[in-house]
Amino acid sequence: MRTAEGLTSRQAAELLQRTGPNLLPAEKPVPQWRKLWGEMTHFFALMLWCAAVLAYVADMPQLAVAIVVVVIVNGVFAHIQQERAQHAAARLRGLLPADVVVRRDGRVRTVHASELVAGDVVLLAAGDRVPADAVLATASACAVDESMLTGESELVPKKAGDAAWGGTFLVNGEGEAVVTATGARTRLAGIAALTSQAAPPPTPLSLELRRIVRVIAGVALAIAALFFMTSLLVGFQWRDAFLFAIGVAVALVPEGLLPTVTLSLAMGAQRMASRKALVRNLEAVETLGSTTFICTDKTGTLTQNRMNAVEVLTTAGRVQVAGEGYQPEAAVQGEGTGRAAEAALAALAASQGGAEFRDGQWRVQGDPMEAAIDALARRLTGRTAERQTPLRRIAFDPARRRETAVVGTDAYCKGAPEAVFPLCRDVPALLRDEVQGMASRGLRVIAVARRRLDADDPPAAAGRWQSCPAELIERRMDLLGLIGLHDPPRPDVADVIRTARRAGLKLAMITGDHPETAAAIAREIGLIGTPEVVLEGAGLPEDEQMLGALLDRDGVVVSRVSPEQKLRVARALQSRGHVVAMTGDGVNDGPALREADIGVAMGLTGTDVAREAADLVLLDDHFATIVAAIEQGRATYSNIHRFLTYHLTDNVAELTPFVIWALSGGQFPLALGVLQILALDIGTDLLPALALGAEPPGKHVLARPPERRHLMDRQLMIRVFCVLGPVEAAVEMAAFSAVLFGGGWIRGEAPEAGLLMAASGAAFTAVVLGQLANAYACRSATAAPWRLGWGTNRLLAWAVLAELAVLAACLYIPQAAALLGHAPPPPAGVLLAALAIPAVLAADWAYKAIRGRMRAA
Ligand code: ADP
Ligand code: MG
Repeated sequence: MRTAEGLTSRQAAELLQRTGPNLLPAEKPVPQWRKLWGEMTHFFALMLWCAAVLAYVADMPQLAVAIVVVVIVNGVFAHIQQERAQHAAARLRGLLPADVVVRRDGRVRTVHASELVAGDVVLLAAGDRVPADAVLATASACAVDESMLTGESELVPKKAGDAAWGGTFLVNGEGEAVVTATGARTRLAGIAALTSQAAPPPTPLSLELRRIVRVIAGVALAIAALFFMTSLLVGFQWRDAFLFAIGVAVALVPEGLLPTVTLSLAMGAQRMASRKALVRNLEAVETLGSTTFICTDKTGTLTQNRMNAVEVLTTAGRVQVAGEGYQPEAAVQGEGTGRAAEAALAALAASQGGAEFRDGQWRVQGDPMEAAIDALARRLTGRTAERQTPLRRIAFDPARRRETAVVGTDAYCKGAPEAVFPLCRDVPALLRDEVQGMASRGLRVIAVARRRLDADDPPAAAGRWQSCPAELIERRMDLLGLIGLHDPPRPDVADVIRTARRAGLKLAMITGDHPETAAAIAREIGLIGTPEVVLEGAGLPEDEQMLGALLDRDGVVVSRVSPEQKLRVARALQSRGHVVAMTGDGVNDGPALREADIGVAMGLTGTDVAREAADLVLLDDHFATIVAAIEQGRATYSNIHRFLTYHLTDNVAELTPFVIWALSGGQFPLALGVLQILALDIGTDLLPALALGAEPPGKHVLARPPERRHLMDRQLMIRVFCVLGPVEAAVEMAAFSAVLFGGGWIRGEAPEAGLLMAASGAAFTAVVLGQLANAYACRSATAAPWRLGWGTNRLLAWAVLAELAVLAACLYIPQAAALLGHAPPPPAGVLLAALAIPAVLAADWAYKAIRGRMRAA
């Protein structure tokens, strides 16, 4: 077989010029006008258009024009929001890491996937996404997940000479592949072009939102029908009745809700991205906000993943090594340096990665632990070891916890002591007993073993390493020693853990490492709880309920976990009502990441497979970033909650007059007309709603326990339909009635037109002022508005000023007032209407106080 040397950078650059970047062709963008057109021709908009035409025909041109204005304003508004959300989502996709290891200029280098060209030699390891169509030049135990192309979930074994398709995942083994086609010429591109037409399945959040919109729309339509029937009964012209009914329904339908929510999520996602947390779907923003339990791994997330081999123990003695980073210089002291060096070289032989000197510095190439082993070998031998390409490698996987390579006439193995000891002929008590001791000092302990392959080894004799079963290689080994590696915790992680606790989040460390090592680190960073609970994966109870009860506490350490056990941990915690965030980096972590409410993958280390399964990718691999994302998720959630509350309260106030009118059989006059409602919706309500969306994340989002699972939770319903809504409506109706009765209206008689208009003006004023107070009440779900500081949302102050100006214009510009069908109320009416402000604020304050008291109890 040809050993692929790869291209030179010159060739690659030329080819890239000629064939273009390795990117899937972008879908043909839908033109702006088409999208805008869509916003104005959906079901509710069509209803409005009909209403406008009918209004015009029925000789009510003002109503017709008003309805058209509403459709256009709503449509443009929705369109702008959708566009911004889509742009944000596209930008996020561009941030996803897509590094590929290639051989160019005879050197191994990392390039961006988009820079690949045909002829490039790509080095693939388990967990990688195949970056383009390619043919495998070498393949060791390769198995590929091709489900994205074929729909078949079964793994496909691959050998040298086989094709590997771009977009599939190498789940097992490793190999080198020569790229044959990139970008639009790949097989995936052909399929993607076929499937891009099919809309993605709706997500739970969008389903819930659709449900909310449908419920509100249903209620609005029902009321409209009631209104229509009553109109006919009291002797209206059917045409007028129908028109008004449609107007009512459409005025109350929350068309703007979906795009507004989507936009808030997109904004939240963008703010997360600026803090290195990348969500892969907008939904995750909301779920993050309700997370209650974080299961995090240790290496790289809590620690720096800057490994340093500080100790080697062999039967000849203990050697201590003190050096900086991965550079070869170090202070070495202790007994048996020669044997220690032998063990270090053996561990290096079993490694895939190492350290390399590049740009004036020793850097990790591959796994930091292997870079540390490389540095150790240099430090102990004083020179650079020659490294041969192994004849066979049995790669590391977290279930086996060891890695073996056949190099020349030897098999080398390194891994967790329990995983290596059973392969050895003899394990000296000295070494066996010291594992515990080294681990309890927080060191990661790696055992190293070797076997000289003799002629009577059947596979060796036949020269068939590739097909030799692992058991024939990993047996009868000689234990060379133990290597102790130090991985310092990230400096700020203890603070972040405290913050997370204050936010009511429970934490667990789920690690593949030794229980003692894990516990020592957990202690150092203050993660472990009291009493200390350190479990081992293999010892977890079978029963899910028992497992849940065991895990459902703060600061548990679960060590030596396999990917399947991770999955069980996630399930057990979920069955106890937790919203679980779970980190993972390995090939087999996919199921656990998918099962957890928030799967978290690493952007720097970790596999493409894990990233593909995750909801959140940490661009800096840092635990703190998870907590930052949760903070932002909570803030976004509160924002959505805020304007939902605001918006729905308004709807209650708008609906009440119609309900009373209909229930009284038309005896009690209608306090608000359709045009007034339209004016409320797009004239006075829009700006404060926007300003609420800009509310800065509260300082306290991480200072209180997690709560709320759904957007429309009981909390919100009670607040809207039992507190804010009724109070606002009560003041509205009181102002209306007061002006009516004060003007001498007698029940049962039709009120005089001027009086009715003045009363209606009072009702309108009450709703606008009530909404003004409501906007401030909605700034926080728990704190009274005067505690928030007036200056923190300037936008809202401006919005409120604008709202007052619009109100004045609506009342005192005669043409506007005539159009809306009302008149300036008498002073008493204005005064009563102004009561809406203290009434709403007081009701809100009382509600928050009672709820706070109830929660504290
Ligand atoms: P962690 O939770 O700390 O990331 P891992 O699942 O990566 O743990 O590793 C679990 C154990 O497997 C480690 O404690 C170590 O003993 C062993 N191990 C990890 N990486 C390698 C490797 N590249 N080669 C051999 N053994 C390894
Ligand atoms: Mg790891």
